[in-house]
Amino acid sequence: MTVISTNSPTAELQAIDAAHHMHPFTQADGLAKKGARVITRAEGVWLTDSEGERILDGMAGLWCVNVGYGRKELAEVAARQMQELPFYNTFFQTTHVPVIQLAAKLAEVVPGDLNHVFFASGGSDANDTNLRMVRHYWSLKGKPSKNVVISRKNAYHGSTVAGASLGGMVPMHQQGSLPIPDIHHINQPNWWLEGGEMTPHDFGLARARELEEKILELGEDRVAAFIAEPIQGAGGVIVPPDSYWPEIQRICDQYEILLICDEVICGFGRTGNWFGHETVGAKPDIITIAKGLSSGYQPIGASVVSDEIASVIGSDEFNHGYTYSGHPVAASVALENIRILQDEKIVEHVRDVAGPYLKEKWEGLTAHPLVGEAKIVGMMGSIALTPHKESRARFAADPGTVGYICREFSFGNNLIMRHVYDRMIISPPLVMTTGEIDILIERAWKTLDMTHDKLKAEGMMQAAS
Ligand SMILES: *Cc1c(COP(=O)(O)O)cnc(C)c1O
Repeated sequence: MTVISTNSPTAELQAIDAAHHMHPFTQADGLAKKGARVITRAEGVWLTDSEGERILDGMAGLWCVNVGYGRKELAEVAARQMQELPFYNTFFQTTHVPVIQLAAKLAEVVPGDLNHVFFASGGSDANDTNLRMVRHYWSLKGKPSKNVVISRKNAYHGSTVAGASLGGMVPMHQQGSLPIPDIHHINQPNWWLEGGEMTPHDFGLARARELEEKILELGEDRVAAFIAEPIQGAGGVIVPPDSYWPEIQRICDQYEILLICDEVICGFGRTGNWFGHETVGAKPDIITIAKGLSSGYQPIGASVVSDEIASVIGSDEFNHGYTYSGHPVAASVALENIRILQDEKIVEHVRDVAGPYLKEKWEGLTAHPLVGEAKIVGMMGSIALTPHKESRARFAADPGTVGYICREFSFGNNLIMRHVYDRMIISPPLVMTTGEIDILIERAWKTLDMTHDKLKAEGMMQAAS
């Protein structure tokens, strides 16, 4: 048996990884040829790989490491909790202190009457909970036919059967007979790609009114809820026009449709407020949280629900739960993470310092010949790559070809920036300093220049007809 350690040669680690580890959202054969980049350490906003390269993490891990890497407080809390009470369940009329503390803290930081928390291990399973909870809610209210959930194309709500069905990702639906029945999808408010000749304002209204049309088509007595990310994340950081959310809210109110805001990315400071629905001005009945809840230091997610929903659900046994619902170690780490966010005023840092600074620099990227629009809210941003800005043209190459080229240059330049088709996205740790933002922007420019040079050299600046 080979001893595998952080001192093993990179090629050896890559070979064993390819032999035994199945990566999520990855074509294994392609990755095996190339070798996965082995990340060994991280501190602040910087990753280190097995070759000793220092990489600026423009994605906060997977949108989650909001307080940055290397937080000793979080490690210490976890170690202490593991020694005191590593696990106990909350199924059979028992509870424990960390879960009580975290539920109470969440009731305090989540606005309005969202005061009740059902825990999960991540965002996907929290959305499974939401699907079952809204259906059970309407059934207890004597309206069992209200069981349809409306979502949006190109939304991301996780990768379980319910999560992927609620999501609107075509490549996910194409595998495994998804979506499951009684989930419907309307179009997304992506003006850059789909706005045509409309102004962003009119387009935002039109896309929101698709919700009303769908409700009328299905019948008001059939629709339980509408689920949406305040700002789509994995779909490409799509910032909706200002007209969109107020109209969505009006429609949910008018037809008595529950509003679920999936805050898995937008929550815990990413948009410059504690929650994304505050930024867009929505009033949800349920929010989904995960990722930034523990800054990724422990796997934990939750549904936070209104007084009204909790009181209706509370009248019956809810036949649902996960072994790790409210796991004491994960709960204590999440609680400490929220303490850090509060004590270090990290949400204020995003709102007043890092967010405005990053916005100015990020929007400056539109001066680059490849960049059509640049969008950013708080610390989540995107740029649309285009061969022709004025017509918002797409590239002649298959969607995603150019984005992938750009992503490869970015990784080569030691900046983690992802692509969603031909949109480049960032979502850095919230603690990023202005000096680190300067480095991010400098590397993004260099990456765009290298991409542009390659596209010109290979005749790829052609627009799709
Ligand atoms: C990541 C994500 C999820 C899924 O969370 P997991 O912890 O990966 O299960 C759900 N919704 C949104 C908006 C996400 O970004």
